[in-house]
Amino acid sequence: MSIIYGPVPSWRLGRSLGIDLLPGDGKTCSFDCVYCQLGRTTRPLAERAEFVSLEALAQELKGVRRIGADYVTFSGMGEPTLAINLGEAIRLARRTLGLPIAVLTNSSLMPSADVRQDLGYADVVVAKLDAPNEELFRRINRPLVGYSLEEIVRAISSFRAGYQGKLALDMMFIRANKRLASEMAALARRLVPDEVQVNTPLRPCAVAPLTAEEIAAIRAEFGGLPVVTVYEAARPQVSPLDVDETLRRRPSARHPGHGVPSPGKE
Ligand code: SF4
Repeated sequence: MSIIYGPVPSWRLGRSLGIDLLPGDGKTCSFDCVYCQLGRTTRPLAERAEFVSLEALAQELKGVRRIGADYVTFSGMGEPTLAINLGEAIRLARRTLGLPIAVLTNSSLMPSADVRQDLGYADVVVAKLDAPNEELFRRINRPLVGYSLEEIVRAISSFRAGYQGKLALDMMFIRANKRLASEMAALARRLVPDEVQVNTPLRPCAVAPLTAEEIAAIRAEFGGLPVVTVYEAARPQVSPLDVDETLRRRPSARHPGHGVPSPGKE
């Protein structure tokens, strides 16, 4: 299998069966986040394209019909909304597997109406927001798209207004933004999410994670909002269908002490 991987134990989605619609070699992303566990973005991209055909996906889905998973999650080696056939792939996966569908997005392409439409087919959308101002957005996420942070925030707000599913905000906290937790909470209040996921990079990467105490202090700034944190969440035990494909997208699973497989982006 080269498109489907996992299930992986996800702190936000339980047992998560991954689908990766991006090319298999290197990371294809519209961001180059300083904390990315996949390393630097080797294929920077801001335009949508087809990388994996629906026929190829249908073929792989046939092999996993009775898998035990809580969600099918579109994620993988980069930004899933770059796949122009994401909406059709979501509907195909739901029809075939009968499981709820989640998409983990970096939010960078949400100003595009076609991206918002595709995300609207998912049961859960986890949208990344790591900075409350443009300067920090550029420093942490190193965007390769032309949209400003404000344009992205307005697009998430517009998506929120028409979306019937669960919208979660994924907020990654590191040294660079830890003192701006109250501004981040204000941003979250503006977007009325169903959940705020307070995260810090626990898997090996170029940036050190914040401690459990630091994350608890950040959490306190989010009073009145439905918050989960990466330190508090439980992770289920899972057995991946294909260990090599799972490790390729979850390199931290090779490091002792992080379990096999790792929760990766999930
Ligand atoms: S963390 Fe996600 S959005 Fe950021 S560079 Fe890595 S794959 Fe792209």
